[in-house]
Amino acid sequence: PGAGAGAGATFPLGGFGAELSATFVVTVDDLRRALADHEIEVHYQPKIDCASGRLAGFEALVRWRHPLRGLVSPGGFVRVAEEGGVIDALTDRVLDLSLPWFGRSFPGPAGAGAVQALQVEGAVSLSVNISARSLRDMQLADRIDARCAAAGIAPSRLILELTETSAMEDPVASLDLLTRLRMKGFQLSIDDFGTGFSSMLQLVRLPFSEMKVDRSFVMTLNRSQESRAVVRSVVELGHSLGLRCTAEGVEDERALDYLRQVGCDLAQGYLIGRPMPAAEIPGWLARRRSGRRGFAH
Ligand code: C2E
Ligand code: MG
Ligand code: MG
Ligand code: MG
Repeated sequence: PGAGAGAGATFPLGGFGAELSATFVVTVDDLRRALADHEIEVHYQPKIDCASGRLAGFEALVRWRHPLRGLVSPGGFVRVAEEGGVIDALTDRVLDLSLPWFGRSFPGPAGAGAVQALQVEGAVSLSVNISARSLRDMQLADRIDARCAAAGIAPSRLILELTETSAMEDPVASLDLLTRLRMKGFQLSIDDFGTGFSSMLQLVRLPFSEMKVDRSFVMTLNRSQESRAVVRSVVELGHSLGLRCTAEGVEDERALDYLRQVGCDLAQGYLIGRPMPAAEIPGWLARRRSGRRGFAH
């Protein structure tokens, strides 16, 4: 269902303001072609430990390098992939592209720099976003497991991020699949926490290990008393449930200070680093060592 016409999405292109923006429609056929033509890429955004400033890991964020439209963000095509039935292929592609950087079996010299740089940093984690649609796919756990093994990565270093709303769409099916993933040793993270209207009682029964405070709260920390209250409470809730807390959307030093003050474990955001191609990781690590903002030194 949903293949071909009808499974499209229209969204603004460019972001330079109304005069220069245009819209285009993405269909599932475009996506199939993009996968076949290797136009799908992964960018990596770092995550640091709030207290020490140490690198904790990277989140893999999918991008589409369109020959005419340039770099397209996931907001424009992940939904089309979900509705058109190619989300599994997309998830598999993201894993195939990202796992080798973090494992010991990267084949070619092209990426040697990033791999070496990461190895110097030690066993950092890799976070991958999993769509709600995949939560009914009982083969998912085996496919991820096989890919991790092939890349030589311990499952505990892979963090699977699921949005709060996706995990709650079908809590019974989720519990089944999430338990399966957890038993294989993967870590599970609740993404965009605070934006859904979940039943706490059902949510806390799912076997998560991390909670990511949604960036809408984190980005407004400096100007909103309410956001500060939400972030403080969410961190406390997460910790009481035995979860590690990550704040996403950390854009300035003041926000990071507040997060340290309330005991948030990890931070991710433009202050620390933007999503970047793997080839830029060594440069980012070098700049970070020379003591840029946002890092303890
Ligand atoms: P997410 O998982 O919550 O990822 C965080 C998003 O916030 C990313 O947007 C990231 O670029 C952006 N971000 C990070 N730090 C900052 C900051 O300091 N300020 C601001 N304004 N934004 C920040 P992106 O890459 O456009 O991804 C959007 C969403 O698309 C992701 O949200 C995730 O839900 C989804 N997504 C990304 N990659 C994949 C994928 O491989 N598979 C699936 N199923 N979904 C994906
Ligand atoms: Mg995420
Ligand atoms: Mg998120
Ligand atoms: Mg988000």
